[in-house]
Amino acid sequence: MSKVVILGAGVSGLTSALCLLQTYPGQIKDLSILSSEWPGDYHAHDFTSPWAGANWASFAQQHETDQITRDKDAYIKFGQLSKTEPESGVKSFPLKMFLLKSHPDPWYVEQNFVEELKVVSDEELRYRNMDPALYKGFEFKNFTVTPNVYNNYLISKIVKLGGKVKRVPRLDTITDIVKVVGHVPDLVVNATGVNAGKLLRKVDPSEVNKVVPIKGQILQIYEDLPYQVMVETLPKELKGKPNQFLNIFPRAEGGCIVGGIFNKGDWSSTVEEDLSKSILAVCRNHVPELKSTTVYNSYVALRPGREGGVRIELSEYPIDGTSRTLRVVHNYGIGGAGYQSSYGSAAELCSKVAKVIASAKTSKL
Ligand SMILES: Cc1cc2nc3c(=O)[nH]c(=O)nc-3n(C[C@H](O)[C@H](O)[C@H](O)COP(=O)(O)OP(=O)(O)OC[C@H]3O[C@@H](n4cnc5c(N)ncnc54)[C@H](O)[C@@H]3O)c2cc1C
Repeated sequence: MSKVVILGAGVSGLTSALCLLQTYPGQIKDLSILSSEWPGDYHAHDFTSPWAGANWASFAQQHETDQITRDKDAYIKFGQLSKTEPESGVKSFPLKMFLLKSHPDPWYVEQNFVEELKVVSDEELRYRNMDPALYKGFEFKNFTVTPNVYNNYLISKIVKLGGKVKRVPRLDTITDIVKVVGHVPDLVVNATGVNAGKLLRKVDPSEVNKVVPIKGQILQIYEDLPYQVMVETLPKELKGKPNQFLNIFPRAEGGCIVGGIFNKGDWSSTVEEDLSKSILAVCRNHVPELKSTTVYNSYVALRPGREGGVRIELSEYPIDGTSRTLRVVHNYGIGGAGYQSSYGSAAELCSKVAKVIASAKTSKL
């Protein structure tokens, strides 16, 4: 029977916890989630999960088969939740996705993976101020997640399965977990998002520069829209900022989020007013339905990027002052895809730790 500690209460840590409890019901004796921030906390722009859009729109390229596998799971799971557990905060909306014609079709269009897939007409492209000679559009069944509702829903499921939750101060280094819990856990899940590089600096220094923030900026509006809209490359005449795009996701509880930007390497927490103006101008241009909007909040947050993509891998680190080691499985660095690949990443993590869970012999220090 093994003792597992999850470090991090964002969507990656919570989904990993749920998946472990569901996959190894008789083999995990104790599973505790420790974290410095929890759903409901809005003070930290580097605790990313509360700030996500959040919809499903896989960024995986055709050749990134591992990432495609991860993203498929959540599309299916969100479909089930939207039907059977609306209290999860997951609601189905169509997504209208617009791309340059020169871009390859996304894998989920090519594989006909998404449901209710259709091509957007030239007439609609013109209505949305996109030249049909330059742009193409797809529409399909999709989902929006209200982050806080959803993450609390996950916690409630975890607690029902016997998982424990505890707020702790930010740990300086991953092996500090041993002091905090008073024993050497059989397994630690490192789901610390954009802070993972700093947390590993003493034991895995090459991660420090690999983990990078990708700043986003979002406006929340009261107006509704019956579909999501994404324009990946903005027309030049709109004079958007580099890396700016349009995302509009209506939420189950009403209103929409409007974004955004994808600024790699930017740790700042400042809302840029000129970017907010530009986001609204782009929204008005492509979505005449939202010519008039009431912004009630604007914020920035950091996507947890990582060179080489998400790290789902087992490591073993020496524990200072002992001859023991700490077994850690990582689940961080998912960038802008933390919700849409949450179930697939957690499933991959669960299969990687099967032997560790089976061979557990927890002992005191
Ligand atoms: C503007 C924006 C829009 C987005 N839109 C989407 C979208 O539409 N779809 C989608 O799938 N994704 C989207 N994302 C990405 C998604 O939000 C992230 O991928 C996801 O939230 C990452 O979750 P995480 O659990 O890995 O990290 P986090 O949510 O950051 O969680 C990390 C956890 O670790 C804890 N922690 C960190 N360091 C320590 C420490 N030293 N000691 C103790 N605890 C620690 C924190 O308190 C926190 O609980 C968006 C992100 C942004 C910013």
